[in-house]
Amino acid sequence: MSKTILTTSAGAPVADDNNSISAGPRGSLTFDNFRLFEKLAHFNRERIPERVVHARGTGAYGIFTLEKDLSEFTTADFLSGPGKMTEVFLRFSTVGGGQDSSDYARDPRGFAVKFYTDQGNFDLVGNNTPVFFLNDPSKFPDFVHSQKKNPQTNLADPASVYQYWANHPQSLHQATILMSDRGIPLSYRHMHGFSSHTLSLWNRDGVRYWIKWHFKTQQGIKTVTSEEAVKMDPAGAQRDLVDAIQRGDFPKWSVELQIMTESEASSYHINPFDLTKVWPHKDFPLVKIGMLELNRNVENYFAETEQVAFAPSNLVPGVGASPDKMLQARLLAYQDAHRYRLSANFNQIPINQPRCPINNYQRDGLMSGACWVAGGVNFYPNDQVNQGAPAPESEFGEPPMPLESEAWIKTHSQDEDDYYSQAGDLFQVMDEEQKNQLADNIASGLIHASESAQQRMLLQYEKADSDYATRVNTRLKDIR
Ligand code: NDP
Repeated sequence: MSKTILTTSAGAPVADDNNSISAGPRGSLTFDNFRLFEKLAHFNRERIPERVVHARGTGAYGIFTLEKDLSEFTTADFLSGPGKMTEVFLRFSTVGGGQDSSDYARDPRGFAVKFYTDQGNFDLVGNNTPVFFLNDPSKFPDFVHSQKKNPQTNLADPASVYQYWANHPQSLHQATILMSDRGIPLSYRHMHGFSSHTLSLWNRDGVRYWIKWHFKTQQGIKTVTSEEAVKMDPAGAQRDLVDAIQRGDFPKWSVELQIMTESEASSYHINPFDLTKVWPHKDFPLVKIGMLELNRNVENYFAETEQVAFAPSNLVPGVGASPDKMLQARLLAYQDAHRYRLSANFNQIPINQPRCPINNYQRDGLMSGACWVAGGVNFYPNDQVNQGAPAPESEFGEPPMPLESEAWIKTHSQDEDDYYSQAGDLFQVMDEEQKNQLADNIASGLIHASESAQQRMLLQYEKADSDYATRVNTRLKDIR
């Protein structure tokens, strides 16, 4: 193989990369060390702000293969025609810890999929849990602060974690999943993924269906206990995925949907847009639509996994959002985060670039590398549309989003909602060992909370299932 010559970032060959230029062997350095200055200046700029949540991530490429034609439900090109294959990038993550935290935190796992469809990128920015701790985005910063390190000591603070949960029973369902045996997956391959939010599909007749996406692991659910987790390699989940793909053992998820009509939604006893609730399977069975397989590792972790920019607002024709309040806030917040971390032109970074042509009149800005302005015209409407200048096409218009019949614009408290039954349903699905593990995991954190927070939590467990409360209370007494 011929020798590759080291160059500056401007491409000039470098003669000596070991010695800076100095006045004599003992120094000082001279001002013509511009190669050294470039090296140091770039090094100083190697970091970008890490994500406030989901900072620690692992990503890989793969293929989504459609097995069931969904053209009855959607105009989306990637969901029409069985056998259709779409390239994807999937980023897994923990949520609370920084980039150098452990893969084995008791924490939800991010499960974010970018589908590079022929009609643009569709991002499904989900988790490994079907629900979340909140159903109103105004609580998101408070919630995340309460689960992060104490602002004074910079140490984990279980008392704050439970202080928040004691005041917010809407977290009970997700907190029950988190404290259950499934709270620490053995690896990213051994867990399910969920859209968690309700999204929608709409067809050529303008009929909208509400949809929840499920990705069922084909590797089986495997978990570790809290005791096992502290002994795990902190990078174990990342290593597991990279190694599996490298040896050709490609992980797979069966892709399944729950589908609800608009009229079912209007009369269903559960608010279908409440992110703290599932749609029970017996009411809305899973429909298998395809398979997702991961089969290629990244070439450059920073360029791909660190700079990948998922946004719930990346929707394609035939796929829409829903009134879910958390989703609505995420439609704005994710793009905002990417502009902060990666600049306004984050979609020009190769990992984020759609695989289909981009034609629009956005131009310039920091780090603009693309030339997407056709025909020398940079505004719309213009007189060049017949010569190829981009123009909108009404056939891609989304049908109107329904509103409740008597909708008042104001803050709507959801405090009185039932946040207990589904946590109780989950408790009842668990076997004896799982119930005991749940109680153990809760008690080991709850013991650090104030007496008042402990009592409020016990009341919540009681409302879910009295056996749930009894088990937690017994474990608390054992520890005291
Ligand atoms: P079903 O009785 O039909 O099925 C129970 C579901 O619970 C299965 O999907 C199972 O996953 C899952 N599960 C079992 N243990 C745990 C755990 N520790 N953490 C998270 N999920 C677990 O469910 P229903 O639809 O009647 O709902 C009952 C409860 O099941 C819900 O309140 C919810 O907490 C939970 N659940 C429901 C889901 C839904 O979309 N309906 C999705 C996931 C959980 P698996 O398939 O791997 O066995």
